[in-house]
Amino acid sequence: MRIEEVQSASKKQRIATHTHIKGLGLDVNGNAIALSAGFVGQMAAREAAGIVVDMIRQKKMAGRALLLAGPPSTGKTALALGISQELGSKVPFCPMVGSEVYSSEVKKTEVLMENFRRAIGLRIKETKEVYEGEVTELSPEESENTTGGYGKSISHVIIGLKTVKGTKQLKLDPTIYDALIKEKIAVGDVIYIEANSGAVKRVGRCDAFATEFDLEAEEYVPIPKGEVHKKKEIVQDVTLHDLDAANARPQGGQDILSLMGQMMKPRKTEITDKLRQEINKVVNRYIDEGVAELVPGVLFIDEVHMLDIECFSYLNRALESSLSPIVIFATNRGICTVRGTDMNSPHGIPVDLLDRLVIIRTETYGPTEMIQILAIRAQVEEIDIDEDSLAYLGEIGQQASLRCELNQSYFEIIYAPPGMQFSCYHLLVLWQKQMEEIRFARHADLDEVTSLYLDAKSSARLLQEQQERYIT
Ligand code: ATP
Repeated sequence: MRIEEVQSASKKQRIATHTHIKGLGLDVNGNAIALSAGFVGQMAAREAAGIVVDMIRQKKMAGRALLLAGPPSTGKTALALGISQELGSKVPFCPMVGSEVYSSEVKKTEVLMENFRRAIGLRIKETKEVYEGEVTELSPEESENTTGGYGKSISHVIIGLKTVKGTKQLKLDPTIYDALIKEKIAVGDVIYIEANSGAVKRVGRCDAFATEFDLEAEEYVPIPKGEVHKKKEIVQDVTLHDLDAANARPQGGQDILSLMGQMMKPRKTEITDKLRQEINKVVNRYIDEGVAELVPGVLFIDEVHMLDIECFSYLNRALESSLSPIVIFATNRGICTVRGTDMNSPHGIPVDLLDRLVIIRTETYGPTEMIQILAIRAQVEEIDIDEDSLAYLGEIGQQASLRCELNQSYFEIIYAPPGMQFSCYHLLVLWQKQMEEIRFARHADLDEVTSLYLDAKSSARLLQEQQERYIT
């Protein structure tokens, strides 16, 4: 069986607008390079984040978390993603928003727990080997209850095997016995034994085995009879949540390969605490044996002020667990009430949790930085945009916020052909039909577009001005 790469569940759309971010863009001394790794400006915050990356590498962040505090769209998510990329390309990044915990179906702490486990990676290393040998007589003391060179006790099967390295007696799992009997294996027969990371998985007669396991295939280097056929190491990256979800209805054995095998069969059932404990047990055993390695990733909780006191006390505890990812919070709030209490606290976070946090501030961008960020995004989205239009977008960005420009589909809107009169509806149709052809944006189109949409600030202003026209 070949283990295919399994992608962690769909959290990707949330980081789609950050594809240009490739790291923190720091030099070897940890100083921020003005424009590097997709990052523009925000130098102090990037340098501070670089130091946190060093602390994480030196395991000095245990029990602590990071808080990114700053106005909307000042790159908090981008910084968190940059940190996870600096930690390694296979480090899981799990973004969530504080308000996600509120659901009528799932407990708040359950949502948090699930996201914690999405942010903890496991690298599983497997080596597959195939031995070839001839079945020999067992020694007199082992020969009780023997059938053709092998005997079965309650806990194992003993088989006498002659290989080029000498004759030995192998202890195998009792389930192997049935395969030996079924294939009527006897003294003198040449058999194959397949082992995965040291654990014997299959035993069979040469011919059947060779066909079944495609021994002539590239990965089994054909070598002279009697030696070991070795297969290259297989590395698989999964998250604890992948294993939980895949084993929600446990089947098969409790070894790592059975756990991974379950991932091939997608289905939805409840993940219980008991199941998670079972998974932890197996995972810990395999970590001890050196088969698996833990890869703590980054759990990014945006709008952390949306969490309530129950969630905060859960987080306080969870941060101390040995199976904890790096937790990065973000907020754009100042002093506000902690949800579920009448206490006021900085960022709406209780002081005992605040005590555990390293805080990094992000600053608002000036027009030059905004224009640079927009230019990078335009390039990623493959849009030709002239300088005049970029400058104009920068201006709008100053009045509204960067998020408005990047998220509120400006890029989709500006695909419309120059000078054309359009309505929102036409725009969408055009966007769908001519996505491939229209790749040029001009100031005039942007002007048209700005009159169609409102950013948050203008919307609030309009509401205030025209209060009497709305139902209150
Ligand atoms: P919010 O408070 O809404 O969560 P945020 O502070 O997390 O906002 P981001 O979502 O990171 O802000 O930034 C908005 C967009 O601008 C994203 O596409 C992000 O990649 C981009 N961006 C922000 N800052 C930078 C930067 N310094 N360099 C390059 N791109 C940036």
